[in-house]
Amino acid sequence: MRWTDFPKWGRYVADWAADYHAGLRTRPVRAQTKPGEIAAQLAANAPEQGQPVEEVIADFERIVLPGITHWQHPRFFAYFPSNASPAAVLADFFTTVMAPQCMLWQTSPAATEMETRMMGWLRDALGLPTAFHGVIQDSASGATLAAVLTMRERTLNWAGNQQGLSGQARLRVYASEEVHSSVDRAIWIAGIGQDNLVRIPTHGPLRAMDPAALDAAIKADIAAGHTPAGVIACTGGTGTGACDDISAVCDVAADHGLYTHVDAAWAGSAMLCEEFRTLWAGVEKADSVVLNPHKWMGTQFDLSAHFVRAPEDLTRTLAIQPEYLKTHGKDGIINYSEWSVPLGRRFRALKLWFLFRTYGLEGLRTMLRNHVAWSEELCARLRETPDFEIITPPVLSLFTFRYAPRGASDLDTLNQRLVDTVNDDGRIYITQTRTQGALVIRFQAGQFDATRDDVVMAYDVITELAATL
Ligand SMILES: *Cc1c(COP(=O)(O)O)cnc(C)c1O
Repeated sequence: MRWTDFPKWGRYVADWAADYHAGLRTRPVRAQTKPGEIAAQLAANAPEQGQPVEEVIADFERIVLPGITHWQHPRFFAYFPSNASPAAVLADFFTTVMAPQCMLWQTSPAATEMETRMMGWLRDALGLPTAFHGVIQDSASGATLAAVLTMRERTLNWAGNQQGLSGQARLRVYASEEVHSSVDRAIWIAGIGQDNLVRIPTHGPLRAMDPAALDAAIKADIAAGHTPAGVIACTGGTGTGACDDISAVCDVAADHGLYTHVDAAWAGSAMLCEEFRTLWAGVEKADSVVLNPHKWMGTQFDLSAHFVRAPEDLTRTLAIQPEYLKTHGKDGIINYSEWSVPLGRRFRALKLWFLFRTYGLEGLRTMLRNHVAWSEELCARLRETPDFEIITPPVLSLFTFRYAPRGASDLDTLNQRLVDTVNDDGRIYITQTRTQGALVIRFQAGQFDATRDDVVMAYDVITELAATL
């Protein structure tokens, strides 16, 4: 295939995209295939000779599409959203066609300068102070890893990268049980070790880490001769939306000179709306914050916004300048690859520019507020429905519930059966989580094209199928 063939197939894909979205409600949300079913239809080896693109596209529709779980389906209520707004898809199309590597300013000045400006727009729109400087990371996992490496190096007085970790002080990092597994992996990769991730008990309806317990744990570690390095707090934990008291956590951390990183990967997008910002009150005191516009906001994976108070600490941790990467005589320019673990980087900021300009902040706020209101409405209806109980009330658009008919003995098994039955049915998609030992059903509304009717439909599907168990 040549670029001269591209207009024909590019138009085909554009038409396909519009048809796909128009017809999404008629497809099952979760792929209804069995393990190995797709692999069995794929050739065992790569072809020696090229094949016509129409054959490849036909096979895509025949073989691949049935094995796709439709994250853009308006009745996707599982996990967290992974929204691809049409405007951001267009931006990605332009970016992919040019495929620039945006590791240094000079390898595409527009990408660097756009990134700085878009992170400024986003920071201001979220109500974060101008003391924060933003960088786009591939994922919240990548941002949290960068934060953990920074807290490690800062605490070791920048000796870890040079000398390695053996013989260094035993570092300790603090977080509640509600943080995402990406925190554990950052601790592993940073060489700190799972045993040194200290779990702080939570309290209250938001499952917030207890600041007094945090303070006590830090003091006990110091007394034991360990070296506290930092705290990872969360706003909107993955299981039930747990929110730490960021202000109190930052105050305790500051008393001991520790670094604080806030993981708001999902919930952070909602902070475009002023009324939700109480959930992360005190965030201005943190050393770094991560949120994923590639979740709720509509700039499809990957686009994770990482705000740091001291970029020089981040680059002191991650920058490396072999001769071929030196950009002589360009004082004052930013090379964003020095702010992240991978060297190569896509031109991701273009997605935010297209998103903000086409929908406006007000358009995005309306979407976020609708999702929260519809989710609260569904929660209220389930609360009034016999045999259903709400386990954790809505944090933004996420709540958990359980089907608990009178006399039922094994509620965990019953609720897993309800989740499976609902997902096999295909009209909606939900997932389960465990909270305080119990298996519960998670519901979040956040899909870009979801309507109130889609959320109302979830009530009908859940109650109808529960009655058949
Ligand atoms: C989704 C999520 C993550 C991981 O995000 P990636 O961008 O996929 O790495 C981390 N923390 C929280 C709270 C999340 O919801």
